[in-house]
Amino acid sequence: MTSNISDNLSNVRTRFAPSPTGPLNPGGVRTALFSYLFAKRYGGSLILRIEDTDIERSKKEWEQDIFESMKWLGLVWDEGPDYDNQSKYIGEYGPYRQSERKEIYAKYLKKLVEEEKAYYCFCSKEELESYKQYAMSQGLPPVYPGKCRDLDQATIQKYLDEKRPFLIRFKTPKGQKITFNDAVRGKVEFDSTLLGDFSLSKGFDNPLYNFVVVIDDYEMKITDVVRGEDHISNTPKQILLQEALGLSKVRYAHLPLILNEKRQKLSKRDNVLPISAYKKEGYFPEALNNFVALLGWNPGTEKEIFSLEQLTKEFSVEKIQKAGAIFNPQKLDWLNGFYIRQKPLKELARLCIPYLEERGLIKKNEKMIRPEDELLPEVSYSIIATGENIFEDYLENAIALYKERLKKLSEIGDLVDFLFAGILEYPAEMLKWKKMTDYQELADSLNKTLELLSAIEEKDFIKENLEKILLDEAGKMPDRGFLLWPMRVALTGKMNSAGPIDIAAVLGKQRTVKRIEDAISKTRSVK
Ligand code: GLU
Repeated sequence: MTSNISDNLSNVRTRFAPSPTGPLNPGGVRTALFSYLFAKRYGGSLILRIEDTDIERSKKEWEQDIFESMKWLGLVWDEGPDYDNQSKYIGEYGPYRQSERKEIYAKYLKKLVEEEKAYYCFCSKEELESYKQYAMSQGLPPVYPGKCRDLDQATIQKYLDEKRPFLIRFKTPKGQKITFNDAVRGKVEFDSTLLGDFSLSKGFDNPLYNFVVVIDDYEMKITDVVRGEDHISNTPKQILLQEALGLSKVRYAHLPLILNEKRQKLSKRDNVLPISAYKKEGYFPEALNNFVALLGWNPGTEKEIFSLEQLTKEFSVEKIQKAGAIFNPQKLDWLNGFYIRQKPLKELARLCIPYLEERGLIKKNEKMIRPEDELLPEVSYSIIATGENIFEDYLENAIALYKERLKKLSEIGDLVDFLFAGILEYPAEMLKWKKMTDYQELADSLNKTLELLSAIEEKDFIKENLEKILLDEAGKMPDRGFLLWPMRVALTGKMNSAGPIDIAAVLGKQRTVKRIEDAISKTRSVK
């Protein structure tokens, strides 16, 4: 047996190195989570590094979004661009933002140029573009042909004096095999000729990705790079640079690509949202972490539910799969539904309240005074459509009706809106059960329901009693739909809902009776 990678891991330091050019999305979280789990599982540290060398596209707002989303998910980093209370970076290897590390990079760049491992390239954009076009037309790799590789010192000085813009290019050794052992993919090999003399920096002030990553990984003492497979073609370049600078090597784990259900590369069209949007829609961080963990990690059992804490214990790099991971939004909904059902009702109701408020169904009353001036509990709500006052128990009962089928909190408004309505709007025809032959049957059914419900005292208006009385009556009819269908529509104005008896118990006697009466008057208008 080959030894497991995890057998000899110590002092592990991983990093999550996002570019703040957009909000954190599930793909980014997958890299963050796996880097976090890799570090935590082997007792190491996670470093958060902001890769903002692309000044045009990097924005503070996205950086903030990344921080907030990671914190919300509980993916806590050990070192990163946060300050302690003396305005010093937490961690010894800062700054942790690449835009603040330019001097460090310039030092290494100069060294490479001095040692003739890198060179000035003065080719214009147009020239570079035409080399590329030519190479592609000949079926050759679109790499720089090396025109400036051997410029003499006098020419270089002349161009520098003329202030011509330049790139610093790496002198890639030709015909060399670069191999590394990837923790996920095993032995990976590249041919250096296909890499060409790649660029390290624009001038000395604008160093580029492949170069800065190498310097930072070294300076920040990173031991393990965990990142998406889309970076695998950068790895040989980074290894060559480590070798040229005599830096210690890092280990690599390239995570499988995330694909849509048609097995194509995931794109914006695939209903992938920023983390902040999932939060707003009422997904739980537990569900997102669980979902993202399964994007490429397979515990090898049937178990699908994992808390972050369990993941830090059970995660192992050997169980990361090579094959593309399929992004299935229904799976996220399923997991979120699971976590919703785990919440105690009180907590769930409190989490749902903002959605009901935002939808204009209820509003919070600060303090409510009863007619006799007796103070009621601090928090009460009023139903906006009717002005009635309600307490948390009404909300809890409303939510309990849908707890089983709720997949995200933002759905709650659509499901329970009728419980906060005044007069329901629906066509009278909807009340008629499909097996009823005429409206007389409908009127009879609703009148019967009204008669039975009116006879129940307010204090006895609970589910068990309602069930006994109504189901007994429904049992005498050709089928239960004769009684329950018109009742459902009368109470909800909808064709789909929780059970009408449960709903009646939540609405209480007054509202229920009133809605049945409204339905009866509606049926009078149709014949
Ligand atoms: N900044 C790179 C990105 O956002 C990640 C670099 C890396 O992990 O090496 O894709």
